[in-house]
Amino acid sequence: MKINTHKTFLINIILVTGILVSGISFAQPGIMKIGFDIDDTVLYSRYVFQDAPRDKNNHLDFGWVNSRDRELSIPIAPTITLVRYFHLNGHEVYFITARSGENGHFVAEYLSDVVGFDVKEGINLFFSPKEKIDGNKFTTKHKVMKYLDLDMYYGDSDSDIMAAIKADVYPIRIVRHHSSVKQYSSNYFGNTLLKDKSIKTPFNSHDLKLFYDANVGMFGESIYPILWDGPEEDKVERSKIPTDVGD
Ligand SMILES: [Mg+2]
Repeated sequence: MKINTHKTFLINIILVTGILVSGISFAQPGIMKIGFDIDDTVLYSRYVFQDAPRDKNNHLDFGWVNSRDRELSIPIAPTITLVRYFHLNGHEVYFITARSGENGHFVAEYLSDVVGFDVKEGINLFFSPKEKIDGNKFTTKHKVMKYLDLDMYYGDSDSDIMAAIKADVYPIRIVRHHSSVKQYSSNYFGNTLLKDKSIKTPFNSHDLKLFYDANVGMFGESIYPILWDGPEEDKVERSKIPTDVGD
C-alpha cells in the first residue's frame, strides 16, 4: 500500500512537470506581429495607379507601379506614426499588399525610407495578388497572414478585413481618405457611392457615416479613425480611374 502511494505520487510529479515544461516551451513572448496593407493604408498612391500604363487586356503594369511610389505616392502620416510606434516599442511590423511583385525592391526601398527601418521582400514585405475564381477576384492575403502568424492587420479595403478574418487575425479598418472612397468605392463597405441600394450593395454614404460614428465596420471590425487631410492636389478634380486597384 505504501509502495503504491509512493508510485502514484511519482507519476503525478512526472505528469505535472511534463505539463509545466510543455507549457513553458509553447509560451509566447508578448511581442505583437502586426500587418499593414500598403495602398490607402500606409501610402496614398492614387496618382500612381491613375497614371499607370495598362496592356491591351487592361492589366496594370505593376513593374511601373512599384517603381513610382517615390515620385507619386504620399505617406499617410497617422499610419506611419502607428507603424513607427509598434516598431520602436519592439513589435514586429509586416507589409502585405495585393500588388503584383514586379520591381518590388523599389517598394521595399521607398518604404524603408518612409518608416525608418529596413523593409525587405520576403522578410517583412509580401506581394499577394488576388486570384480569380468563377469570375470574381478574391484576396490571398490570408495565406501570408497565417504563414506569418500575425496578431493584427490594418487595412482600408473590404478584402483586407475578409483576409484577416479568414486568417484568425484581429482586423482593423483604416478610414480611407474621401477621395479614395470615390476612386475605389467598389471595395469599400461594398460600394457606398451607388445612388440606389441593392441586395448586392446594401450600404450608401449615409450608412458609411453611421458605421464611422459607431466605430465598427460591416464585418464587425474596429475602425481606426485616422484624420488625414490628404494632398493639396485633392482639391483639383482628377479623372476617373477603374476600380480594380487600391487594395
Ligand atoms: Mg488598400
